[in-house]
Amino acid sequence: MPIPTLIKVIMAKIFLLAIAFWLLITILKRYRNSWNAPDEPLKKSEQTELMVQCAHCGVHLPKSDSLLVNDQYYCCQAHADEAGQ
Ligand SMILES: [Zn+2]
Repeated sequence: MPIPTLIKVIMAKIFLLAIAFWLLITILKRYRNSWNAPDEPLKKSEQTELMVQCAHCGVHLPKSDSLLVNDQYYCCQAHADEAGQ
């Protein structure tokens, strides 16, 4: 019976192609994830604020909370005034 054998071969080929296609998609998804993964920590580091040190007392504080006077960062106006004197 050659015809059922041919159908079996075609079915097997389709089955193998489906597996190959599924593997390809799975591998591509993993590659995409591994490519996207290094970007995520960069985005997080961009979100975390830069820490600066008070030029007077040496305390570390977020850049947005600091005072920039004469290219020096200060934790409060008092320390900026004291350093400026
Ligand atoms: Zn200070």
